[in-house]
Amino acid sequence: MQGSVLAGRYRLEELLGAGGMGQVWRGTDQRLHRQVAVKVLARPGDRVLTTRLLAEARAAAALSDPHVVAVHDVGEGQLGGLPSVFLVMELVDGRPLSEVLHEGPLPVDDVVRWGEQICQALEAAHRAGVVHRDVKPSNVLITGTGRMKLCDFGIARRAVATQGLTATGAAIGTPGYMAPEQIRGDTVGPATDLYALGCLLYELLTGLPPFTGEALSVLSRHLERTPISVRERRPEVPVALDRLVGQLLAKDPGQRPVSAAVVGDALLDAGRGRVATRIPPPATRDEAADPLADTRTAIRVRPEVDKRALKWGRGRASLLLGALFATDLLVLAGMAPLWAALLGLVATGLVSLLYDDGASLASRSPEQMRESGGTILLSLAATVILTAVLLFWSPAPWWVALLTAMGGCPLLMACASGVARLLTRLASTAQQADMATGVGLANGTLAALLVSQERVLVASAMGVGTWLATAALTAVLMPTVRRA
Ligand code: ADP
Ligand code: MG
Repeated sequence: MQGSVLAGRYRLEELLGAGGMGQVWRGTDQRLHRQVAVKVLARPGDRVLTTRLLAEARAAAALSDPHVVAVHDVGEGQLGGLPSVFLVMELVDGRPLSEVLHEGPLPVDDVVRWGEQICQALEAAHRAGVVHRDVKPSNVLITGTGRMKLCDFGIARRAVATQGLTATGAAIGTPGYMAPEQIRGDTVGPATDLYALGCLLYELLTGLPPFTGEALSVLSRHLERTPISVRERRPEVPVALDRLVGQLLAKDPGQRPVSAAVVGDALLDAGRGRVATRIPPPATRDEAADPLADTRTAIRVRPEVDKRALKWGRGRASLLLGALFATDLLVLAGMAPLWAALLGLVATGLVSLLYDDGASLASRSPEQMRESGGTILLSLAATVILTAVLLFWSPAPWWVALLTAMGGCPLLMACASGVARLLTRLASTAQQADMATGVGLANGTLAALLVSQERVLVASAMGVGTWLATAALTAVLMPTVRRA
């Protein structure tokens, strides 16, 4: 075939690759004097393949995106004396990801960047009402400059009926990357491509698709089994990325992320080491089946956190606690200024250490409140100290100390949770509300201790009042760490 000229115009020069449908040649468009890629059918005269190639041309022609291989022309010619059609496309100077994978799993950074580009291609297709249905490494080309190009829309389906192209209900695709609904022959939609994308990302990260082996068993496992997590195979993969791949591989299309654009954003977030953002699944299953629904309902939830402001907020809250501690000791206990200042400094250091795990909670919105280890430890410490004081230094009866020892910690944690929830109105993240609560708890405990010679009720009121006031003040003084 080498050297043949199709339709008097396209000269085939070098075989670039071959897939299920035909051969792809590097060629020259003799009229426009440019290099092109030409896909010719493996079996000229095959009507099914011919129809598919035409459908591919139309699907790809409906798209214009830098990450989708552009289709220039489709033509008819004679090959080996038989009528055949051929597809002329933009020549991509690169190689398929399947070839790159021969070198083993890829660096996480590359997977994130490349995955995001594939998402752009899929988003463009889905917006144009095209579902690719065969996303896999051999259908994604990478250029020398690291640009992704999605190709092979051979079995793509237009949202608007292409009935008759494949028998209704026929499962068509590549076993390793096929979504459950595609295997069952149910309606396919953008979510089907997202499942395949999940398989592809899984393979780029681990070197193997989620399920391997003989085709039939692979298909049945797509339907029934949950794959081993990416992190189990490669522990250094960030949790957020692992979780995202898991979401893409949800059996129910309704549980997958809402659109390729959302996945692209989440990939970038995961790559920056952020905790997985909440990825909203489509609102209803019907929408999942509607290839255009995603473009209408895409909601971007991406809490961006300013790390420097976050640190500064922690520092501010710790310093405030130190200052309040020192003041309490000076005023309520009449301590020498030097000792009060020293103990204040110790308190600053301790609380700053206790709340050093900011990253894990930082990107949570206040609505996703959860108390951290710092608050739990403070509740425990407060219980131990209060019990000791009640037992040995206060006029309270022994059973009050016993009750405090038994119920103190759970009660304080429950109260802390309530206070933190209240504070979410004042703080910009769950992490800040949590830390402000802890600072308040520490200061409230100290205040209660310092007046423990009074009646228990007075001491309790003092503790609670100081807790709430300190917590609110801390929350207000913490800077906003969330960008829009
Ligand atoms: P099939 O439908 O037969 O699977 P593909 O469109 O996937 O065909 O192409 C098969 C292979 O040909 C690809 O894996 C890739 O190596 C190469 N190829 C396809 N399109 C191009 C292109 N536009 N430029 C360069 N190489 C291409
Ligand atoms: Mg292919």
